[in-house]
Parts: sequence; C-alpha cells; structure tokens
Amino acid sequence: MIDTLYFFGGAGKYKYECERLMTAFYPSVRLCFDEEPDSADGYVSLYSDGGQLRAVLYDGERREKSAASSGDDTLDELLLCGLMYDLISEHTEITLPWGILTGVRPIKVIRSALYTRPDAKSYISDLLRVSKEKLDIAKSIISVQDPILDMLTEKSVSLYVSIPFCPTRCSYCSFISSSGGALKLKDEYFELLLKELDECRALTQNAGLDILTIYIGGGTPTTLSAEQLKRLTDKLGDFPLSHLKEFTAEAGRPDTVTKEKLLALKHGGVSRISINPQTLSDEVLRAIGRSHSVEQFFEAFYLARKVGFDNINTDIIAGLPKDAEEGFADTVDRLIKLRPENITLHTLSIKRSSALKADKSDLSYRGAGKMVAAAQSALWDNGYRPYYLYRQKNIADNLENAGYCLSGKECLYNIFMMEDAQSIIAAGCAGSSKFVGKDGIKRSVNFKYPYEYISRFDEVIKRKRQAAEFFK
Ligand code: SF4
Repeated sequence: MIDTLYFFGGAGKYKYECERLMTAFYPSVRLCFDEEPDSADGYVSLYSDGGQLRAVLYDGERREKSAASSGDDTLDELLLCGLMYDLISEHTEITLPWGILTGVRPIKVIRSALYTRPDAKSYISDLLRVSKEKLDIAKSIISVQDPILDMLTEKSVSLYVSIPFCPTRCSYCSFISSSGGALKLKDEYFELLLKELDECRALTQNAGLDILTIYIGGGTPTTLSAEQLKRLTDKLGDFPLSHLKEFTAEAGRPDTVTKEKLLALKHGGVSRISINPQTLSDEVLRAIGRSHSVEQFFEAFYLARKVGFDNINTDIIAGLPKDAEEGFADTVDRLIKLRPENITLHTLSIKRSSALKADKSDLSYRGAGKMVAAAQSALWDNGYRPYYLYRQKNIADNLENAGYCLSGKECLYNIFMMEDAQSIIAAGCAGSSKFVGKDGIKRSVNFKYPYEYISRFDEVIKRKRQAAEFFK
C-alpha cells in the first residue's frame, strides 16, 4: 500500500498541490521531507534538483518518470504533478476525470486557458490531463456563463446572508450549528444579524453599489420562524434594489418548510428557492441522518408551487451510503418528472468531522462515477444543461458538483460566486465577503460559530466598516 509522499530538494515547495493530487488516489497520505524512504513501505518520492524534475513510485518494484525543469515554478509544479499522476495512474489503472486539477474552480482554470493560451488544447488535455468529457462539460458551461458574466459592471455586487442552523446534522456534514445548544442561540443571533445588515446597507448605499443578486443560505434558513423570515426580507427590502435580478432563499430541509414561511419568502420578494431531497429513498435518508421523509420533500415542493414559486432548485447527492446505481437513477428519474427548474447534482464529499468520516463501514460501496455519468445523460436528455460547477475536498471519485437547469433558469449568484466574478458582501456566521478588484481578490470572513459571532459582534461590525474602505 502506498502511504507516504517524500519530497527532496526543491520539490517541497510543491507539497500542497502534490499532496492534494495524491490524496485523490490514496485518501490518507503521510508527508516526509528530505528523509530516506523506508523501502518496506510503498511510497512516492518527488525530486526537483539540477534542472530535473523526477517522480519515483515504489511498491516492491521501482518506477520512475522525469522531465526537464521549465525554470518557472508554476509550470514546474504542474509538470511534477503530471509525472506523479502518470506513475500512480499506470500503477492503479485509475484515471481521474479532472486530471491533475484539484482546485475548487476548474471552470475558471479552463476558461482562462481557452481565452489566453495559444496552446490551450495541449495545456488542458496533455499538461493538466483533463478528460475530453470534462473539457466538453466545461466548454458547455462557459458558453452559458459568458453572456451572464457580461452583465457585470464595476459597481455590481451580490449580497449573501447566512443562517447557520439546521434541525439535525447530516452524516456527511461537519456543520456544527445543528446541535441543540447552537439552536438555542438562534433568536439572539438573528437580532444581531439584522444589525450587521444595517451596516451592509450603509456600505452599499455609500459606495453606490448595484446589488444584482441576494442569496440567503446556510445551514437551513427556514429554521427561522415565518415572522423572522418576514423581518429578514423586510430588512433586505430596505437595500437599494433597483438592479436586483434574482433573490434566492434556501429552504433545504423539507421538514422545516411551512406554508407561512413560504408565503413570507414569496411576499418578501424571493424569486428562487431550494428544497433539497438529496435522495428519493427513505432508507438512504435514514442512513444519512436527515430527519425528513421522501413524502415530506414532495409535500414541500408542491406547497412551494402552490404558493407561486416558479424557480425551484433541488439538490441530490451521488454516492450516499446505502445508495446504489439503480436507486440513484430512480431518484434522478422521479426528480426530472417533477420538473424543478434547477437540479444540482452533487457528489458525496465527506467532511473531516462528520459522522460518516468516523464510521467508515458505510462507505464500502459508492460507485459515484457511474451514478453521475448516468444522471448527466438523463438530465441532458430531458432538457437540463450544466451552468456552474465546483469541486470539494475529498469528493468521491474525484468528481464535482454541478448545477443543471432548464434554459434561462441559471442561478446568477452561483455563477458570480463560483467564477469569482464580482464582489460579494456577506452577513452572518462564516459569511465570507469577497472583494474583487483590479489587484485581485481580498476576503473578510466572519466568525464561524454563532456563539463567537454573538460574543464578538463588535468585531463583526468593525470589520464590516473596514470593508467599506475597499470600495472607496
Ligand atoms: S448538509 Fe446542509 S442541511 Fe445537512 S447539516 Fe449540513 S448544512 Fe445542514
């Protein structure tokens, strides 16, 4: 078993990307620097010295690949990852659909290559080793996104509001605020959030910014009461919204959805909501710790239609415990028949401190690759097209999450945010404000946990005021 990654000479500076790539093949990897490999173990060693890049794989037998250094660190990192990828891929007979790309935003990388490099095709296919299938998806997404990105100006921003509470914690998630203790803080948190939003409004007004989209996410925003949702949308209604094109609120957990809450969102101007089944199997729902049934999902969905929502997103996840190809195909088919405007196809990604991470027994079968491939063709055959895509750490089969939608129903916020295309002003726990300028991107992240947010609220406000400097 290969379990160690050794670095020699200058190769240590490439450790971040190399480790991420190696963990896509071998989930736990030990890193060692300038240390003699223990030949009893299987290992990969990387070298960068004397103008040469080398990768060695040992697993009872020694294999080596090498290339001349380009003299450029960025390119050398890719070259070294490529050598390592080829060795491991030949050894394991596994190819990764995104090749050596391990980052969150592959579309951004591919767009940049296509638009700026004369050698784009060989750069993407040969150097990055991205499969033709993934390149085709990326090109399709770019063609949908480009006209949408064209609507942005220097003044356009989006607003993100975080409601960091859930009724229970899903077994693959490490989201902390689903515990009973955290939920007790909800009302206090909510009052402070409204105050932070006052700061956000002042910031947008003073800087003359145009808010294009609002996104209320979480957590599960519909853990708030109908009255709180009304107060929240009233508060957001005080912002300068003459440029607003989209207003999304997540109502992710069907067991938190009521008619009163949906009406509060609808009357408050919300134009798009998300109701997430994750799977249409009660057995799988139980296995992942969701406290709702498939029936409750359908009830919430039909209720949302009745209240008048004509843009509904539904999230599903490939590779969940107790699920298999047939079961997942059934979920996809039944969901397509429901005709939500958006279907977001996730691949299971197990967070570090999740229940699933602790209980490895449930991961004996995943088969996410086949599930995703079958779902993609079913979605295409039924008029859904991918419009945004991102990847997460520890994602099953090194795949991706992708938003599919019916024509004209793309979620603008998802595109702007994932392509780092505009500034995002974020309020609430873990809200990550992003300031996109000519000199790159600056970030300001709020405290992660509700108790910190509450106890250090003065700092939250101070940071928001400092953020206003960016727009001056
Ligand atoms: S996956 Fe979503 S709904 Fe489930 S606990 Fe995490 S944040 Fe909450």
